[in-house]
Amino acid sequence: MNLLVQKIIDDIGPKADRLMDMLLAIQQEKSYVSNEHIADLAQQLTISEIQVRQTLSFYHFFTSKPARHRIYLNDSVVANMHGRAEVLQAFEESLACKMGGLNSDGIALLSTACIGMSDQEPAALIDGIVFPSLTPERARYVVEGLQEGKDIQDLFYLPSGDGENSKEVLNSMVNNNIRKTGLLLDDYYQVGTALQLAVKKSDLEVIGIVKTSGLRGRGGAGFPTGMKWEFCRFSEDKEKYIICNADEGEPGTFKDRVLLTEKAAMLFEGMALAAYSIGAKQGILYLRYEYKYMLGHLQNALNTARTKHLLGKNILGKQGFDFDVRIQLGGGAYVCGEESSLIESMEGKRGEPRYKPPFPVQKGYMNKPTSVNNVETFCKVCRIIEKGGEWYRRYGTKQSVGTKLLSISGDCQRPGVYEIEWGMTIEQMLNMVGAQNTLAVQVGGPSGNLIGEDSFYRKICYGDLSTGGSMMIFDNSRDLLKEVVLNFINFFVDESCGSCVSCRVTTQQLKQKLEKILQGKGVEQDIEDLLSWSKFNLVSRCGLGQTAANPITTSLQNFRYLYNQLLQSGKDFESCFNMENAVKESCRVVNRIPNR
Ligand code: SF4
Repeated sequence: MNLLVQKIIDDIGPKADRLMDMLLAIQQEKSYVSNEHIADLAQQLTISEIQVRQTLSFYHFFTSKPARHRIYLNDSVVANMHGRAEVLQAFEESLACKMGGLNSDGIALLSTACIGMSDQEPAALIDGIVFPSLTPERARYVVEGLQEGKDIQDLFYLPSGDGENSKEVLNSMVNNNIRKTGLLLDDYYQVGTALQLAVKKSDLEVIGIVKTSGLRGRGGAGFPTGMKWEFCRFSEDKEKYIICNADEGEPGTFKDRVLLTEKAAMLFEGMALAAYSIGAKQGILYLRYEYKYMLGHLQNALNTARTKHLLGKNILGKQGFDFDVRIQLGGGAYVCGEESSLIESMEGKRGEPRYKPPFPVQKGYMNKPTSVNNVETFCKVCRIIEKGGEWYRRYGTKQSVGTKLLSISGDCQRPGVYEIEWGMTIEQMLNMVGAQNTLAVQVGGPSGNLIGEDSFYRKICYGDLSTGGSMMIFDNSRDLLKEVVLNFINFFVDESCGSCVSCRVTTQQLKQKLEKILQGKGVEQDIEDLLSWSKFNLVSRCGLGQTAANPITTSLQNFRYLYNQLLQSGKDFESCFNMENAVKESCRVVNRIPNR
């Protein structure tokens, strides 16, 4: 058997549910996963080679092709707005290969979706390390260094970023860009305070405080956190799990990146509070591959928490309160932000969403009751237990209680992370970030809502404009349909897992229709088709498919005039199938008359 596979199996054990970790370890060592690795893994884990290949092929950053270095250049809307084309040209010229290729030195140039750096674009992941604020000169400098055989860490072109980014254990060029602090981002919290208070209460009392606070999940869906914990707490199965969803993949979102950087201790304390409430002994942080550069920093925070008895056995002296956390890296798949896909991924499989019910609180990780919560949610819980549910309700609006972290990017003077109270209007937000001549705002990422000036009076809150945190601003110099809507539709085409016909096919069809209109070949009927075909997506299994048409429907709703400007009239552009025309050339070749 291959020695590396043998070592990995010795370290992790022959556990098929840890296949993701094994593939990551092989790739880390060898840069790719070979046929030999696949065969050996299948044999050791007593699964088929097809099962290994299925997992390997599902994730964006797994590969079976060797390369000395890999440059993944981000292809998000905001990256394109800030000069990605020039950076791409510099990479292509200095590597002497095109996007998608491998140059003669073994350096691959690849494209990827948003890597969580919309406040410092263009950005790339190079051998798993984030290179933000790229320019053509910086791109050439990195390529030259790689070609000369320099270490990737020696090719940093910026000093370390701010806060924890500057510490040796993280040592990253990424900046936090925290622009506005509030209940969470203010530095008033003393780590351990909430857990000290919680262990003096019963599990149900802790859940009661969270329910009183009115806290709703901060990942986007907005399900009441206390209720989710209560469902899990009352599940009859004794084995339960806490999962932190740190797979922040919605394009334009990066606020969890900042929390993971600056509030890691608070996050793990929040997970311990959840464990105390529902009776879980094991927690898992699912970290998106793009944030792999934080792994050492997060492991460090876990070790510190163990030293302070905030994790481990008999936490803070409470007999029987045992809880610890492991970190699971993802492999790059937007759909894994959906909680059941994320669980499938953690079990070593393709991240395909499960049918619901049962919900994860009933049958989640390893078919056991599982509470999946977002990074921001766990951090917020610490302050709620510290100060009380009633205290938290004083902030925000009646229906949308407390504060929300926004990731704001695009055409504005001060992109970054802002902690606001729910209820702020879009207009107030635009003033806050220094946006001028704004044409549109994408609220909630591509799966959200593209709104125009006549909606800027609207409020950011669950009852009106709900968001998981992504806010992208476009000024009146932008071609909304070409630069924004088409990019979003391409994103959904790439990220659909392909299980549902409605999602797999409709996104493709919508893309083709939009391209036809953008090429100046669209007619009124194409708009009607876009509107009616968009409805097919609603029957899809998960949120990705159900919202994949939103860029089309919301842009049609709020920017119909942009489509109308491109429409043609006349039969030449009507989409129809003319059999006689289609076979005319073939008939001519074989000397036959059509329809005879
Ligand atoms: Fe997969 Fe799309 Fe179906 Fe979701 S809706 S399960 S992403 S095909």
